[in-house]
Amino acid sequence: MPRQRIHIEGIVQGVGFRPFVFRLAARFGVAGWVRNDSRGVTIEAEAGEAALAAFTAALREEKPPLATITRLECRELPVSGEPGFAILDSRADQAARAQVPADAAVCGDCLAELRNPADRRFRYPFINCTNCGPRLTIITGIPYDRPQTTMAAFAMCPACLAEYRDPASRRFHAQPNACPVCGPRLSLVDGAGRPYPGDPLVQAVRLLREGAVVAIKGLGGYHLAVDAVNAGAVRLLRRRKRRDEKPFAVMAADLAAVEQFAAVSTAEATLIEGVERPIVLLEKLPDFLLAGEVAPGNRYVGVMLPYTPLHHLLLEEDFLALVMTSANLSDEPIAYRDEDARLRLTGIADAFLMHDRPIHTRVDDSVARVRDGRALLLRRSRGYVPRSIPLPGEQVPVLAVGAELKNTVCLTRGDRAFLSQHLGDLKNVETGAAFAAAIAQLCELVETRPVAVAHDLHPDYLATRYALEQERLPAVAVQHHHAHMASCLVENRCEEPAIGVIFDGLGYGADGTLWGGEFLAGDLDGCERVGHFRYLPLPGGDLAALHPWRMALSYLLAACGDELPELDCLAAVPAAELALVRQALARGINAPLASSCGRLFDAVAAIVGLRNTVSFEGQAAMELEMIADPEAVTPYPFGLNMEADGLVFDPRPLVRALVEAVSAGEAAARCAGRFHATLAEMVRQVCLVVRARRGLDVAVLSGGVFQNALLTTLVRERLMRAGFTVLTHSLVPPNDGGIALGQAAVAGRRLRGGVRSPASATA
Ligand code: ZN
Ligand code: ZN
Ligand code: FE
Repeated sequence: MPRQRIHIEGIVQGVGFRPFVFRLAARFGVAGWVRNDSRGVTIEAEAGEAALAAFTAALREEKPPLATITRLECRELPVSGEPGFAILDSRADQAARAQVPADAAVCGDCLAELRNPADRRFRYPFINCTNCGPRLTIITGIPYDRPQTTMAAFAMCPACLAEYRDPASRRFHAQPNACPVCGPRLSLVDGAGRPYPGDPLVQAVRLLREGAVVAIKGLGGYHLAVDAVNAGAVRLLRRRKRRDEKPFAVMAADLAAVEQFAAVSTAEATLIEGVERPIVLLEKLPDFLLAGEVAPGNRYVGVMLPYTPLHHLLLEEDFLALVMTSANLSDEPIAYRDEDARLRLTGIADAFLMHDRPIHTRVDDSVARVRDGRALLLRRSRGYVPRSIPLPGEQVPVLAVGAELKNTVCLTRGDRAFLSQHLGDLKNVETGAAFAAAIAQLCELVETRPVAVAHDLHPDYLATRYALEQERLPAVAVQHHHAHMASCLVENRCEEPAIGVIFDGLGYGADGTLWGGEFLAGDLDGCERVGHFRYLPLPGGDLAALHPWRMALSYLLAACGDELPELDCLAAVPAAELALVRQALARGINAPLASSCGRLFDAVAAIVGLRNTVSFEGQAAMELEMIADPEAVTPYPFGLNMEADGLVFDPRPLVRALVEAVSAGEAAARCAGRFHATLAEMVRQVCLVVRARRGLDVAVLSGGVFQNALLTTLVRERLMRAGFTVLTHSLVPPNDGGIALGQAAVAGRRLRGGVRSPASATA
C-alpha cells in the first residue's frame, strides 16, 4: 500500500483540475488530498500498487480540456493509513511555477444551458464553468482564486456557492462562477453615460439593426460593432474611426454562417472553432454577401466565431455577421476600462453595451491564417497568452522588450518563455504607457524578477530606451534579424546551426545600417551575415514605407538609370514632387540605404500598378500577395554576386524585366506571381551556396515578409526539393510580434556563464 506525493506543473489551475483529481481518486479508491500551490498542483495519493499506477496514468490521459501538463514528478512517502480524499486550500508559499490559463471560448455544456429556458442561467451573458470563460483577463494575482480576480466584488448566491463547493459540479472552484442573481449585469448607455430604457441586449440589437455603431465590452477590451451587411453602417464606422482601408474583422454566429460568405478548409474550420477563437483570414467567396466596405480591395476577410456568451446572444439575433473591430482610434491601444472607453469612443460609438465585471488585463483578438494546412499566428494574443513556450534549456530569468511595431515583451522562468499579448506599435504615448504596465503585469503573473533585460540594437526604439534605463538590470543587445531567426529556432526546438532566411521591412543591422533582406548562418549562440539584398536608398526615410511609388522610383533609377520608363505609378505623381524626390535621391538627402525586402515588395506593387500610397506599413506587400497568380511560376532574371560581406541579391535585372513585362501588357496578377517565384528561386540558390560552403542543411524562414503564405509555400517547396529541412513559424508570429521571444532566448545563452554587472554586460 504505497503513498506518493505527485507534483504537477503546467496549466492546472483554473481549469477544473482538482475536481478532476477528486473524481479520479474516488474511481480508483485512492486516499489522500490535492492542493493548488504556486508551483501548480500537489497531490498525496495512497492506494494499492496497481490502483496508484492507474490513477497516475489517468492524470495524464484524461486531463480536463483546458489543462496542459508540462511536468509530473512522483516521490515515495511513508504510508499514513488515513482514509478519504480531500481538496485542501491553496498555498502561495512555494517557488512560483503555476501557469495562468488563457481565456477560453464558452464551452458546449454552458452553451446548452444558455439556450435552455428551464436552466437558471437561461440567456445569462456571463455563464461559465471550469472548462471555459475568462481567465487571464480577470486575474489580478497568483494563485488563481476568486479573491484575486475581478470577480472578487461579487458575492456568490447560495446556489452558486453550492456548485462552487461541490466536487461533482462542473463549477467546482470555477472562480468566475456567477448567475443572474449574484453575478455581473449588462447595461446599455449612451455617450454621456445615460442608461437606455428597456432590456440592454434587446435595445443594443435594435440599434445595430438600425445601422448604429455600438461599443461592446468583451473579454479583453471593447469592440466597435456594426451590422456587417449594412454598407452605410460600415462606411459610418470607417469615417468615425478615421480608418479608410484597413480591413475590419467580422464575427459570425457559426461555421455555417461563415460558409455563406467565405471559403473554409478543414484546417481553417479547426482553427476558427478552437477554444482560442482567433480571427482567421479566409478567402472571400466570389459572391460576398457582406458589405464590400468590410475589407475593400482584399481577397481575404478576417472572421471569428463568438467566444463569450454575450456574443452568442447577439449573433443569434439573425445577423449574418457583425463587424467587430478593436475599439480604438487608429494605432492606439484597445480601450478596456469603462470610463476610458466612454471618453475615447465618444463620437465614434452611438451606444455602449457594457457590464460591471472589470477587465484587468487588456488583450486584443489574436489573428491567424492557415498555410500548408498549418495554423500561422500573425498576432498572438487572446486565447494563446499567457501559455508558455518551451526554451531549449533552463536559463536565468530574462525580460526581453521586443522591437517597435507590433510590440510584445517576453519574460523567461526556468526553461519556459512567457510571451506577452500584442501591445501595438510603440510610437505613441498611450502605447508607451501600456508597454510599461504590461511589463509590470507580466512580472507579477509569472512571479519572476528578471536578472537581465534584452533589447533591439536600434537606439531610437522606445523599447530599447526603456531597457537601457533599467539601471539595476544588465542589458543585452540582440540584433533584430538574429532575434527573428532565434524565435523560429526556439519554436521548432532546433538547436543545430541553420541558415536563416530572414525577410522583413527594416531592422537595425549589426553594422549600424538598415537591414531587411538577410541570410544568416548560426544558432541561438550567434550568427554571421552570409548574404543580403543589395542596398538601395529609401527616399524620405520612414515616408518610403507609406508611399510605394517612392520605393519604385528608387529601384527604377537604380535599374534603368536616368531614362525612367513610362509607368502609371510615376505618371500619377505630381511632376514637382517627383522632381523633388529625384533630387533628394541624387544628392543622398534623407535617403538612408537599406537592404530591405519589404520595400522591394512595395516597389513591385507600385510598378505593376497596384497602388502608389498605403495607409499602413506592409499594405502594398500584402495586396501583392493577394493578387498574385499562383500559376505564374516562371522567375524573372536576377543577379547574385559574391561580395566581401557575402552573397548579394541584385534586384536590378528583376526590375528591368518587370518594367518590360508591364509595358508589354502582362497582367499585374501574373507579374506578382512571377515576382514571388523569383524570390523563391533566389532563396534556393543562396541556400545551395551556403550549404556547399558550410554544410548547413536546415533553413529557417522568419521575418514579417513570411506572413506571406504564397512566398512561404514557394520557398519551402523549392528548399525541400533541394533536400533542406525547412523550419517555419506556426504559434509564434514571423513578424516583430515574435522578436521578444528570440531576444530572450539569445540573451539566455549569452548569460550562461553568469550575469555580470550592468557596466560590463552589454554585448
Ligand atoms: Zn463552460
Ligand atoms: Zn449566483
Ligand atoms: Fe522585423
